[in-house]
Amino acid sequence: MEIKKGIAVSPGVSIGKCLIIDSEDYRIPRRQIEASERLVEVQRVRNAFREAVRELTELEEAQTQAAGGRIKDIFAVHLRFLRDRSLRRKITDEVHSESVSAEYAVSTVLRQIAAHFTNVKDTYISERAADIYDIERRLLKQLLGHKREDLGRLREEIIVVARELSPTQTAGFNKAFVKGIASDAGGRTSHAAIVARSLGIPAVVALEDFTEIVHGGDTVIIDGNRGLVIVNPTDETIEQYEAYGREFVALEHKLDGIREKPAVTRDGVRVMLLGNIEFPDEAEAVLQKGGDGVGLYRTEFLYLNRPTEPSEEEHYRAYAQTVRVFQERPVVIRTVDLGADKYTQSKRFAPEPNPFLGLRSIRFCLQNLAMFKTQLRAILRASVLGQVKIMFPLITNLQELMQATMILHDVMEDLDEESIEYRRDLEVGIMVETPSAALTASTLAREADFFSIGTNDLTQYTLAVDRGNELVSPLYSPADPAVLRLIRTVIQDAYRAQIDLSVCGEMASEPEYVMILLGLGVRTLSLSAPLIPEVKQVIRSVTLEDCNILTRKVLGMNSERQIANYLRNAARKILPEAF
Ligand code: PEP
Ligand code: MG
Repeated sequence: MEIKKGIAVSPGVSIGKCLIIDSEDYRIPRRQIEASERLVEVQRVRNAFREAVRELTELEEAQTQAAGGRIKDIFAVHLRFLRDRSLRRKITDEVHSESVSAEYAVSTVLRQIAAHFTNVKDTYISERAADIYDIERRLLKQLLGHKREDLGRLREEIIVVARELSPTQTAGFNKAFVKGIASDAGGRTSHAAIVARSLGIPAVVALEDFTEIVHGGDTVIIDGNRGLVIVNPTDETIEQYEAYGREFVALEHKLDGIREKPAVTRDGVRVMLLGNIEFPDEAEAVLQKGGDGVGLYRTEFLYLNRPTEPSEEEHYRAYAQTVRVFQERPVVIRTVDLGADKYTQSKRFAPEPNPFLGLRSIRFCLQNLAMFKTQLRAILRASVLGQVKIMFPLITNLQELMQATMILHDVMEDLDEESIEYRRDLEVGIMVETPSAALTASTLAREADFFSIGTNDLTQYTLAVDRGNELVSPLYSPADPAVLRLIRTVIQDAYRAQIDLSVCGEMASEPEYVMILLGLGVRTLSLSAPLIPEVKQVIRSVTLEDCNILTRKVLGMNSERQIANYLRNAARKILPEAF
C-alpha cells in the first residue's frame, strides 16, 4: 500500500481499478524495481509481446488484399519486429541490468532503435522510425491496460490515471464508468479539474510522480476531499474508506435537504447562488441543487471534442435548452474563451510559446470575427426565451470592450435587417480576471452592465503563477493579500458605478472564502452545481456582522499563510464536516 498526497480538486471518494492513459504522448517515466520483481517484469514483457502478436495477427487477417494490401504489408513488417527474439531479449536484458519496469524498458529500447533509424540518411529506413513508435504504443497498450480511444467505449468502472489531462479529454469521460481521476500535473483551477467537479467525479491532481508508482489494473482509492490517493490499499483501508464514502454521501443528502431554503444569512442578507456550467445538460443539476440561475456558461466547451466549429443552429440549440430550464431566471452566457489550454494550440501549425498570455479568449474572438458573430447571433436569438445576459471574457482594457460591444451592435443590426427577434435590453457584462481590468474597473464599469470576477485567472495573472502547474501550486492562492486587494477594488468600483457584481471563479465554491466574500460586499456567487449546497449551508450559518468583522481582520494581515489559516479555521467552526 502506498499513499500519495496531491491537491483535492473534486470532492468524493471512489475505489476501483486504475487505467493509465495518455501513454501515446508521454514518455514513460523511469520506475526502479526491486531485484525480486525482475522476473515478474520480464514475464510482463513476454506477455505483452504475445498479446501484441495475437492482436496484430487478427488485424492482419481481417485485411483483404484488395482493400488493404498496403496495410497488410505494414502489419506484416510490425509482426516481424514483434516476433524478433533479439528485440525481446534486448528489452528483458534492460529490465535485468537496469532494474526498471517493463514499460520503461520497452519504451527506452524501442525509442533508441527509432532514434537510430531517424539518423540514417536513407529516407526509406528513416521512415521506419514511425513503425517503431507504433510498435512501442502497441506494447505499452498491453502493459498499461487499455488504449485511450477505448475510453469512450468503457463497460466497466475505472479510475483514470494520467500524467496530465486536457479539458477535452475530461469532458469526454462517461461518468457512469469513470469513477475517479488522478493526475501527476494540474492545479485546483485547471480546466480539467473544473470539468471533473462539474461532472461530480472525485479527483486529485498534482500528484507529481504518481504514474511512476501505479500499474494499470492496480486498485486505487481516490480521496477527493483530502487530496489523497492510495495504491493497492489493505482490506482494512478499503473498509475504512467505504465507510467514509458512505458518510460523505450521507452529508450530501443532508445538505440536499436545504435545497428549497434560500441562501440567506442569519441576519437576513440574501445571497444569489448561481451555477457554473460547461454543457446545457448541467442546467438541470444547477436547478436540482437549488441554484438561482446560471452565472457562468463556459460556451467554449461546444468547440471541444469535435472536428468542426459549431454552426449558429448548434449554438442556438445549446443556449435555448439552457434558457428554457431557467425561464425568467438569469443565464449569463460567456462568449467563447478558447485559447490557452483549450482548442487553439492543437489547430496551430506551431503552438504559441506562452499560450496563457497569447491569443486567448476575447482576443481570439476579435481576430476571428466570423466565428464570433455566429455565436453572438445565436445568443441574441436565444435571448427572447428568458433572461439571457452576455459576458465577454478576459477583457484587459476599455478598447477591447468597446470593440466587442461594437461587434455585438453590428450583429444586432443584421438581425434587425432580417427581422429576427432578440431582446434589445439584454445586459452585457465582462469578466474581471486580469489585474489591468481590476485596476481600471471604474472606467470599465461605465461601459459594462455587470462584472463577474474570475478569480481563477485573476489569481494566476496577479501572482504570475500558472494555475495548472503543480510545481508552483503552493504559490497559487486567492487568499494572497495582492489578490484580495484587487478583488476589493473591483467590488468598490462596481458599487460606486451601481452595476451588478458576482464572483464566478473557484474561490466562490470554497467554504473558507464565503465569509470574506460576503464581508467584502459580494452578494452573488456562481459555482459548479455539486458545491452549491455546501456554500449555502455556510451562508445560512453566519451573520453579515460576523463576516464584516472577519474581513476587517483579514485585510489587516500581510501574509497569505496567515490569511488562509484564519479563513480555514473560521469556516471549519461553521461546517466541520466539509474539512
Ligand atoms: C476564472 O478565470 O475565474 C473563470 C471563472 O474563468 P475560467 O475558469 O473559465 O478561465
Ligand atoms: Mg478565466
